[in-house]
Amino acid sequence: MTPRIPDDLLTQCMHCGLCLPVCPTYALTGMEKSSPRGRIRLMKSVMEGALPVSHEFAEEMNFCLDCQACETACPAGVKYGELVESARVLVDENRPLTLKKFILRYIVSKRPVLKFVAGLLRVYQISGIEKGVLVLLRKLSSNLYARALLMPRISRRSARATLPETIESQGNSRGTVAVLTGCVMDVFYSDINVDTVEVLVRNNWKVVIPRKQVCCGSLSGHYGDSELPKRLARENIKVFEETGALYYVINSAGCGAFMKGYASLLSDDPEFSQKAARFSSKVLDFSEFLFKTGYEIPQRAIGKKTVYHEACHLVHSQKVSKEPNAIVSQLAGTNICELNESTWCCGSAGIYNIVRYEDAAKLLERKMENIIASGAEIVITGNPGCLAQIDAGIKQRGLPLKVVHPATVLNRLYKSEEI
Ligand code: SF4
Ligand code: SF4
Repeated sequence: MTPRIPDDLLTQCMHCGLCLPVCPTYALTGMEKSSPRGRIRLMKSVMEGALPVSHEFAEEMNFCLDCQACETACPAGVKYGELVESARVLVDENRPLTLKKFILRYIVSKRPVLKFVAGLLRVYQISGIEKGVLVLLRKLSSNLYARALLMPRISRRSARATLPETIESQGNSRGTVAVLTGCVMDVFYSDINVDTVEVLVRNNWKVVIPRKQVCCGSLSGHYGDSELPKRLARENIKVFEETGALYYVINSAGCGAFMKGYASLLSDDPEFSQKAARFSSKVLDFSEFLFKTGYEIPQRAIGKKTVYHEACHLVHSQKVSKEPNAIVSQLAGTNICELNESTWCCGSAGIYNIVRYEDAAKLLERKMENIIASGAEIVITGNPGCLAQIDAGIKQRGLPLKVVHPATVLNRLYKSEEI
């Protein structure tokens, strides 16, 4: 069956244009077709048969960051994220297997393959080959050098290999929570998973890390794969339900947003629709969870000027903003600084910074200018993509700055370690 972009979603747009000033791709080109309103018009024309699913149409749908800033701004409640993801399914069905599709379908979502590739990359990084390559690239091409800096360090061991499946709470247990370790997070930032678990345990939660959990499906879902994310969602629902946990705590904004969306992803599935709705209602971002359930305030504050960068999939998709802002302000005390355009996309957007490097680099430039102007020494953000992107911006410019996840900040403050 040919996939369709739902008509009821398309007709919600009243073409007021209030989304235009918040759209990063519109800011890059100034062209209507690169705005949310323009893209909705394009989708409508395709659905009415006035336009084919052409290369140009595919380009415009893939140029969009799916940052969903337009959803936050829209007075008519247009579900733009659902629209663009449906359009990408349409594009995907009309195109052959691309490199992007191959990576998402056969590497990122398959844990053993991802582990193998990560192992090779780690050898590349620690053997000294990477150092040599960087020196060479720096001389040959600043563009290639900047691209190479995008790759974060591969963690020595994944959190799932380091931590047991069940970890008892430090004091009297307040209940059980289950944690998603994620794909990108556990390959590049397994220490953040360890910090997340240690913070939860310290706050008297028993933690389960289900061994059979799979990729949440967000990357392939955002890039137009229609079946794989559903299969992964069904598997995760089964595995997480078996833990009997009260909440599922997610420390990656992209994964959390997608898992909260399992309810609508599987709404037509007779066997899973109810289970998916129950599952999604238990999903909470790390900061949302701490804010909701309360947490021990560390004895000392971050002793450095701090800003909070709001990941798109936290602030726009999940509408989680006051919670992490409150926590970061509490941890930074009088050192909290204001970050201009804190909700503007940094250009990471899943694998956007790899497949559309030039556009992502312009957005990163804008983000770094704002960070530098804030006077910050520490940038806090709750998404692995943003961590990698901003870290690359810091390295490219040689800035005396650090970018860290809230779980790491909190855990280091508990342990009185340097941030
Ligand atoms: S703000 Fe909403 S209703 Fe207005 S043009 Fe943008 S998407 Fe359409
Ligand atoms: S999702 Fe982001 S980039 Fe795409 S149209 Fe909306 S605001 Fe623009």
